[in-house]
Amino acid sequence: MMKRIVILAISFLYSTLAYSISVSIHIYADKTFSSVILAPLNATYILEGDGKRIDSCTSSSVYSVSIVNDSLVQVKNLDRVIGIFSRIRLRGYGPRNQFFLKLSSEKNNRLYDDDISISADKPNLKLLSIIDLEHYVSGVVQGEAGLRRPPEYYKVQAIICRTYALNNLARHINDGFELCDLVHCQVYNGVSKNPDILNAVEATKGIVIVDANNQLINAAFFSNCGGQTLNSEDVWNSPLPYLKSRPDTFCLHQPAAVWQKLMLVSEWNNYLTKKEKGLKCDTTKSYYDTIPISKRVYLYDKGYLIPLKEIRGDLNLHSTFFSITKTDNTVTLDGRGYGHRVGLCQEGAIHMTQTGYNYQQVLHFYYTGVQLIDYTLLPSSGFN
Ligand SMILES: [Zn+2]
Ligand SMILES: [Zn+2]
Repeated sequence: MMKRIVILAISFLYSTLAYSISVSIHIYADKTFSSVILAPLNATYILEGDGKRIDSCTSSSVYSVSIVNDSLVQVKNLDRVIGIFSRIRLRGYGPRNQFFLKLSSEKNNRLYDDDISISADKPNLKLLSIIDLEHYVSGVVQGEAGLRRPPEYYKVQAIICRTYALNNLARHINDGFELCDLVHCQVYNGVSKNPDILNAVEATKGIVIVDANNQLINAAFFSNCGGQTLNSEDVWNSPLPYLKSRPDTFCLHQPAAVWQKLMLVSEWNNYLTKKEKGLKCDTTKSYYDTIPISKRVYLYDKGYLIPLKEIRGDLNLHSTFFSITKTDNTVTLDGRGYGHRVGLCQEGAIHMTQTGYNYQQVLHFYYTGVQLIDYTLLPSSGFN
């Protein structure tokens, strides 16, 4: 009996500790500002200045934080100056802690989970959201997948976003935080209130994708592959065993499946000439009809090679998957898909879940030879 109680106590402790990992996210990373307003939603916060308690929050506390002397922050509760510090932190201690944040330059406020740390980053303030990984994942799922998706699809996205976060914690190692809230890392605009997203994150709590060697994968995804995904090495430098080209019919009738761009022949010629001196649009060549599916470069005339990736960037195309045809004055680029096309095709995955596939089947369809495991079981991960 005693043994059983001890085991129960240990497993309770384990399950509580196992998910206590928090991440630090630089929020409003693309904005510059010198003051913010903080308003705790719950009374389960204390305010710290340079590591010491400086105020106990109520649910009607409103703090304004602004920069002084380029390196310090001043905190006021309404008009009362609480003090001037190098760093302040709103620290939550309840089961769920949320606060509103508003930049003086922005019209709308945002709701965030857990803690925030504010310091001066001359001449601006720097805001770090210190947040439980699972809370962060729910915000990111909304930022990356949007609203009105199938509930099962949100599970797919939650596992991808969790895997991405844990695999990229060192991305901003020299900046003093782990991830930013922009496309550069993952889009994160605060709390998601969508019940389908919250349920999906809860249902997949802790699950990540690993390769055959139990290493977190680079869970790359994009909008639509146009019918064929690409190998990692077709787009980036190194081949990865789980990022393999594969046909995909699930996305073919989805919104981003096809695109078209029309250009004047003179515009197209100007572009080619700028790119490679002497290149010209030659209507007699059959390459206008080819659709390069998984080739890294676009082969042009007389041995010239222009990487498709460059053409996509230069002309702002949705993908590198297109054919070219020419009529009298016009060159038409008929394209398929949207994005880099390596890894999981979001519109294909959405359609799969709409037609009855579960999240495990979707992830195994797009990522070759992977496994889904709890991240606390990762070998020498430091997460357990
Ligand atoms: Zn980043
Ligand atoms: Zn696809």
